[in-house]
Amino acid sequence: MLSERSRKIKPSPTLAMDARAKAMKAQGIDVVNFGVGEPDFDTPENIKEAAIKAIRDGFTKYTPVGGIDQLKDAIIDKFRKDNSLNYTREEIVVSCGAKHSLYNIAQALLSPGDEVLIPSPYWVSYPDQVLLNEGIPVFFKTYENESFMAKPEAIDAHVTQKTKALVLNSPSNPTGLAYDRKTLEKIAEVALKHGIYVISDEIYEKLTYEGVEHISIASLDKNMREKTIVVNGLSKSYAMTGWRIGFAAGPKDIIQAMTTIQSQSTSNPNSIAQKAAVEALTGPQDFIQGMIQEFDKRRKYLVSELNATPGMHCPVPTGAFYAFPNTSGIYGKSSAEKTISSSSDLASYLLEKAQVALVPGGAFGDDNYLRLSYATSLQEISKGLERIREAVRSLS
Ligand code: PMP
Ligand code: GLU
Repeated sequence: MLSERSRKIKPSPTLAMDARAKAMKAQGIDVVNFGVGEPDFDTPENIKEAAIKAIRDGFTKYTPVGGIDQLKDAIIDKFRKDNSLNYTREEIVVSCGAKHSLYNIAQALLSPGDEVLIPSPYWVSYPDQVLLNEGIPVFFKTYENESFMAKPEAIDAHVTQKTKALVLNSPSNPTGLAYDRKTLEKIAEVALKHGIYVISDEIYEKLTYEGVEHISIASLDKNMREKTIVVNGLSKSYAMTGWRIGFAAGPKDIIQAMTTIQSQSTSNPNSIAQKAAVEALTGPQDFIQGMIQEFDKRRKYLVSELNATPGMHCPVPTGAFYAFPNTSGIYGKSSAEKTISSSSDLASYLLEKAQVALVPGGAFGDDNYLRLSYATSLQEISKGLERIREAVRSLS
């Protein structure tokens, strides 16, 4: 019998959908993949060269568990420049992707029965990571007409003696929306009042549009800095999903516990990827601007076309690379085979009927929506939208 812990969780639905789409492609089916959140750009040459150099120089051995000093210093600089946050090396830990950083936080913070507040819709791995660490995910709803931001009053209402932390993700996966300063200030007040930690997932920090400014809740107040663990990484900003470098910054005791956990589980993140990460953070940054410009074009096109699709309504995302249309207007309609009554019915229908892969909102805790990643070419987006519209029109 497998452990109780392992039976509580499911495979990541985003990665599962990507695997399904890729398997269909391998069979020769022309699938348009809006499924996974992964930049379609190649990792910049200068970063690849730094990795090749690391191999040639023989930088292929164990490194300090929490990352090499050179990388920690580059991360410290990044926090100072981008977020006006000052950390020391002891307050930084580099892990095998931001997902691993988040996991280590759950390992370091949670005792059995501890509660973690998760505003919904949420990124798929938060609840399962809490469950894996014998914590209890406590969900509360956020609303489209409030830009899917967690209301300070709602946080306040859900705090109990057992609450350990609140998860914030701005810009957000799946909604593509970012928190404003005023809301973050009020959330900080509530968190400090109750003495709970904020786990601030800022992996989409660099990807914002329409002049939206990314704000880290840790930067708002000295006390809040002591109660925040900031998570970030290179996967999205530098198109480095496969390299597996993420990092966390926060209070020394938590970061040291995370490092010790890492020393008994994964050891250091890949040495070559660490050298590449140094180059990513300290080398030329113009790649990011080019990527944002391209995402922005796709974002505008995708959102306007989704809004022109019968039964759909799509809020305008100002960050990340996801559109999150409300599709509840389609529920109740039927194809020849089946009535569509949920986001997973609709996602399955679109995959089978239109060969379009996307993730049902139910996977993110809100069944009224679908998530489309626009990290795919305009040409593919246009083809996929045409198919979606035709498939939706054929429902009655
Ligand atoms: N947080 C969010 C919100 C994400 O969308 C992702 C995407 N993979 C991650 C964390 C983890 O990123 P990675 O492990 O690739 O650094
Ligand atoms: N975060 C991305 C997504 O939501 C990558 C997949 C994953 O890590 O779950 O699609």
